[in-house]
Amino acid sequence: MKITYIDQEKPMFITGNVLKSSLGDYTFTREIRENTCPVEIYIEDGLIQSIDLILKISENQPPKEGVRIDVPQGQIMIPAFVDCHVHLVLDGIHGFRKFIGPASDEALVQRLKAIVCSGVAAVRDGSDRYNTGMQAKRMCERTLQEAKAGMDIITGGFPEVVTTGWALYREGHYGSFLGQGGIREFREVKERIAQLKKAGVEQLKVVQSGLVSFSAYGETGPAQFTLREMQEIVKIAGEFDLPVMVHASSDEAVRIAVEAGVHTLEHGYFVSLQTLELMAEKGVAWVPTVAPVAAALKEVQTLGPGVFNGKVEPEVLEKTIDNHLEKINLAQDIGVTLGVGTDAGSPGVGWKEGFWQEMQYYARAGLSPETIFEIAAKNGASILGLSREMGTIEVGKKPYFLGINIESLKNIENFLGPQSIFYCFS
Ligand SMILES: [Zn+2]
Repeated sequence: MKITYIDQEKPMFITGNVLKSSLGDYTFTREIRENTCPVEIYIEDGLIQSIDLILKISENQPPKEGVRIDVPQGQIMIPAFVDCHVHLVLDGIHGFRKFIGPASDEALVQRLKAIVCSGVAAVRDGSDRYNTGMQAKRMCERTLQEAKAGMDIITGGFPEVVTTGWALYREGHYGSFLGQGGIREFREVKERIAQLKKAGVEQLKVVQSGLVSFSAYGETGPAQFTLREMQEIVKIAGEFDLPVMVHASSDEAVRIAVEAGVHTLEHGYFVSLQTLELMAEKGVAWVPTVAPVAAALKEVQTLGPGVFNGKVEPEVLEKTIDNHLEKINLAQDIGVTLGVGTDAGSPGVGWKEGFWQEMQYYARAGLSPETIFEIAAKNGASILGLSREMGTIEVGKKPYFLGINIESLKNIENFLGPQSIFYCFS
């Protein structure tokens, strides 16, 4: 896999075949019947300046100056991916840990580099008590400034990080590792949200249920906030201009969040068709995170049931996954905006392969590769509030894109990542 960092200083031309549906609305795309077409992408000042169909570039046009790169014939260009749900504080290694400490800058550099190598250009951190998302964001900004100032630092580029700080959860319920103490009295909520805004977060994370059980099918713990409370949270968050990202499983917990009009729903194990329909209607996006459950299943299959002290039943996990894949298919069918989120960092969900595995699960759910690539890039960028800069290959956006094997357009059940990565250095 080859990474090309795009330099702000030098104009660049990239030529190759592009997946038509990942482009914006260009007149030439209407003339092309195939789902791919050969284009020349011109980049200057860190932005895409023009995209032209190669057959249409007239021969008497004087060639412009710039670095030229040809994407190999067997590869197709698509926009870089966006991971809607990660936990930068966690290492992604197998096995349950009781204590989770803060992450060192060195560990974060490793994780961020692995993210870039997976083809992901932006992540949304799903919170932890140390506000590791902000630590990562600041570190990326600092490193970039040092690199721009000409200091001798080879950064290799970092993904963009959207942060949620620490999560709101109810005292005595699940969420202590995601937040800084639970809500005791509901009236604390406003002050908590004000603090988060002051800390610079871009979205608000709310924990609305427990974790999905690995031993009793369908168990997730009770809903933490009532409909009226959730509506109040959404209203206050709106006053601070913060979209609301809600961790919820069980149909009841999900339904409350959806009715309250949150921005995105995370996990959503055991969501019903009726609630999915309401999500489609209200424009609530869904990030199903199959990977953490799939990772637990893999672990118990490899190491045996003793590994979790009998707290994991393989059949329960299999049933949970099958049910979830069915719901993903339904959701896509009825027009729910899906996003790819891995819960990367969770036990067994690696920083590099986690994203590819999540896409493989979408393929197993019956979605086409082209649809999955669109969900992974365009929908993800929209969920993170980054549509102006990424998610499609369009004039005015940053040059974040990938070259994938042409065979991946037919089948991604064994997808092993991009072959080329074009990465913007800003
Ligand atoms: Zn999470």
